[in-house]
Amino acid sequence: MTIRLFNTMTRRIEEFKPLVPGKMGFYSCGPTVYWDQHIGNMRSFVNSDILKRMFIENGYDVRHVMNITDVGHLTSDEDTGEDKMEKGAAREKMSVWDIAQKYIDSFLRDIDSLNIIRPTVMPRATDNIPEQIAQVKQLEELGFTYEIPGDGIYYDTSKFPDYGALGGQNLSELRGGARIDDSGKKNPTDFALWKFSPTDKKRAMEWDSPWGVGFPGWHIECSAMSMKYLGKHFDIHVGGQEHIKVHHTDEIAQSEPIVGKPWVNYWVHYEWLLSKDGKMSKSSGDFLTVQDLIERGYDPMAYRYMLLMGHYRQPLDFSFEALDAAANGYKSMVRKVAEFAKDKDGTPIDKNMFNAWHDKMLSTISDNMKTAETLVVVHELIKDANVNASTKFALFEFIDRLLGLQFIDRAKKLTDAESETAPAEIVALADARTAAKAARDWARADELRAQIDAAGWTVVDTRDGAKLVKKI
Ligand code: AMP
Ligand code: ZN
Repeated sequence: MTIRLFNTMTRRIEEFKPLVPGKMGFYSCGPTVYWDQHIGNMRSFVNSDILKRMFIENGYDVRHVMNITDVGHLTSDEDTGEDKMEKGAAREKMSVWDIAQKYIDSFLRDIDSLNIIRPTVMPRATDNIPEQIAQVKQLEELGFTYEIPGDGIYYDTSKFPDYGALGGQNLSELRGGARIDDSGKKNPTDFALWKFSPTDKKRAMEWDSPWGVGFPGWHIECSAMSMKYLGKHFDIHVGGQEHIKVHHTDEIAQSEPIVGKPWVNYWVHYEWLLSKDGKMSKSSGDFLTVQDLIERGYDPMAYRYMLLMGHYRQPLDFSFEALDAAANGYKSMVRKVAEFAKDKDGTPIDKNMFNAWHDKMLSTISDNMKTAETLVVVHELIKDANVNASTKFALFEFIDRLLGLQFIDRAKKLTDAESETAPAEIVALADARTAAKAARDWARADELRAQIDAAGWTVVDTRDGAKLVKKI
């Protein structure tokens, strides 16, 4: 099936043509492991997961490389400010290395909860310092660098005529618009390739280099690791939209002099998850993690479902109202899948029907990752009385592979929970609640309901009396 994607470089939706038939290699900028990733970050990782699943279901062999930024970079794009890893280490009174491990572990736990397929390779920046130094050396030999004494080795953006093409920026405009500063940079857009350690203090992370002890600038790791693990040219590079004008622009400037043009065939950028005051970010303090959602009783799949109801190129507002609506929508779909699972035995799968629906969903998503429209087709399928339960169930196996929403797993849990009988002490609580209700002691009845709830059960009042259902 044809796959179409919006390419930031050409600003058009283009038909995807692989470099090698049947294969797709992509690189995504990964987490900086100095703190928990929030659900805004997770939106971008879910988008990459959908991209990957869409290619897999189209028969591609996908290779996904995602870096782990565990090196002590500075907090701004301009290579100034505090070192994030050292900041994290000071905050938690741990070494920078332990901080990195702690947040790699929590990141993996969160992407697993969201059913995100792990990348094929997850290289760490600190394991690839020689590769980064080698690229800086190459750029030096090609005449793209200069040194600012006491500061570092910088990339001279005036030597790269295409600088700014990704963001549609014009170099002379960029130069004209920026203030003159005393940083020693030749052009405001120049950026660090290698930073020197201060002479009066030892940094927690620093390495020897041909230019002196220091640490890499923050863009070079992505050029070095993508080429190491995907080859000199590869198909797709993805990331959040804030990376277009600096980080990815600088990655291109570093890479194309080394490998030729184009280094990457398609650039795909994701829009943000917004909280009340704009982009959800750690610095605003107004953020939530996947664990926060779980602690509030949400299934991570409800959040994933909420994300898929939007489009990756549109900002998405987060609110608990929207999440509640998504959770209810998701649950009612799970209930339907549980019914298909019960009714499916004995009826054969209708092959033609299966193929028609399969192709409809796959072609919808393959058109620039239209997840919301694909979910509309899923709803149509649920409602279509002409499709039998076994065909619907088989299609949900495909839907789970494509969208990663774990419908079948949750449907099974629901069925298991509904068939489980409550232990005697929970039954006793429910009986006491029925008695309290009969005595019109509503406060006591509510108190007992809360106790039942806390023990992992829900009491549902039916025409035949109170029923206990295990929570999933
Ligand atoms: P960081 O750890 O800050 O480098 O971020 C990891 C990834 O999350 C990057 O690709 C960012 O573009 C992305 N990201 C950060 N904040 C948001 C947000 N509010 N919505 C969507 N993606 C985000
Ligand atoms: Zn990157």
